[in-house]
Amino acid sequence: MDEIQNEIHEECGVFGVYSQETRNVARTCYYGLYALQHRGQESAGIAVSYADKISYYKGMGLVPDVFGGGNLETLPEGDIAIGHVRYSTTGASQLLNAQPVVFTGKCGKMAVAHNGNLINTKALRDEMIEKNAVFQTSIDSEVIAVVINSLSDGDVVNGIKKACAKLKGSYALVIMTTDKLIAVRDPFGIRPLCIGTTDTDFIVASETCALDSVGANFLRDVKAGEIVVVDSEGIHSHFMDNIPPESRMCIFEYVYFARHDSVLDGYSVYEARKEAGKLLARYCPVEADLVSGVPDSANVAARGYAEESGIPFVEALAKNRYVGRTFIQPDQRQRENSLNVKMNALRANIRGKRVIIIDDSIVRGTTMKKIIKMLRDAGATEVHIRICSPIIKHPCHLGIDIQTYSQLIGAYKDEEQICESLGADSVRYLTIEQLVSTCEGAHTNFCLGCFNGKYPYPLEEYEADKLKLE
Ligand code: SF4
Repeated sequence: MDEIQNEIHEECGVFGVYSQETRNVARTCYYGLYALQHRGQESAGIAVSYADKISYYKGMGLVPDVFGGGNLETLPEGDIAIGHVRYSTTGASQLLNAQPVVFTGKCGKMAVAHNGNLINTKALRDEMIEKNAVFQTSIDSEVIAVVINSLSDGDVVNGIKKACAKLKGSYALVIMTTDKLIAVRDPFGIRPLCIGTTDTDFIVASETCALDSVGANFLRDVKAGEIVVVDSEGIHSHFMDNIPPESRMCIFEYVYFARHDSVLDGYSVYEARKEAGKLLARYCPVEADLVSGVPDSANVAARGYAEESGIPFVEALAKNRYVGRTFIQPDQRQRENSLNVKMNALRANIRGKRVIIIDDSIVRGTTMKKIIKMLRDAGATEVHIRICSPIIKHPCHLGIDIQTYSQLIGAYKDEEQICESLGADSVRYLTIEQLVSTCEGAHTNFCLGCFNGKYPYPLEEYEADKLKLE
């Protein structure tokens, strides 16, 4: 949804391919990253392994911009490639911080791509600097690479296993050596990661939509705490020590982050969103003439609401598809400018009508406030807001860029107060129980930290600069 696009930022998508043939694996990676573009739009990069070497290309911007103009063709043919799309949460938005991180260490040449966010980056970085490590970037992904290298005895899987025992936070990693593709998911499985196959290739990706984009069949999800290694002998599974009894995937993957045609941990994002809309109709009904979603990501839920309530689904808002999603630019002023040109009310559809607007979530409330005003200016007689998630009451430091309580309209307000400050006729949210029930087909439990303050890692384990609890 657009409110969340304006204010919450998913930070990365990862993709990897291991081919039994030497061929243009960079192109496969390119299509995979294209399908994961929604997970990060600031930078993109691909690294290719060929003839005991690793070659890479990274740039700022969208996948087609970075790899257009012949840039993709600068990458050699090979048999392994990994790729990354990024939105910055840790480390500034600049080319230096683009991924994959490529380096040479005890295990030879390696490349690492990371989706997630560590909560003990500074402590690990300081520890590594103490051991004479040198850092070139400000990203936690480089810290992961350095820790793996430092703890490795030349065996990359041992190094990863030992490193994972020290990493705290969320990480879905795709790692490449000159002869292996490795997929790693943190012990709670906070970010998604799946494996697919074609006749010749193994594919690893943040979401199944990227498998579909390269014609791969879904094989399975990487399990929480699992290290999957693909090499010339096939696919092998290893597990970290001390994996918690329950995985806790970020439930926002279903609410907003993932593409609605993806299936995460065994459950369809589309189904979860549709069910959320139906539950809103059942538990938060209101008389109205039409129901609409904030385009595009809330449209599935809006259709669910319409189906359940019998109120027609009618488009109330038009989106300019040629304006990038607002979180392309982390600068607040730029974000507000792009918002003004990206959305418009469909006057003919809403004039004189009582309108229900469905959205995924409300963070600051600034975008929703503008949308409500836009609808009223266009002649809507009533505007009722229905939100497919509970009130966001707490920050998130596990990969989503909500740093402080002061960023959240819901931190100190209830539904009624939020309604008043947004200028809506009514605002209702799903409860935590209702939201969890929309995902009950998933083979995982959930992190619900931003709703209930209970994070997978106890708060005292967060570095002080990650807490910012003003
Ligand atoms: S705190 Fe919220 S946004 Fe962050 S990982 Fe948990 S569920 Fe996801």
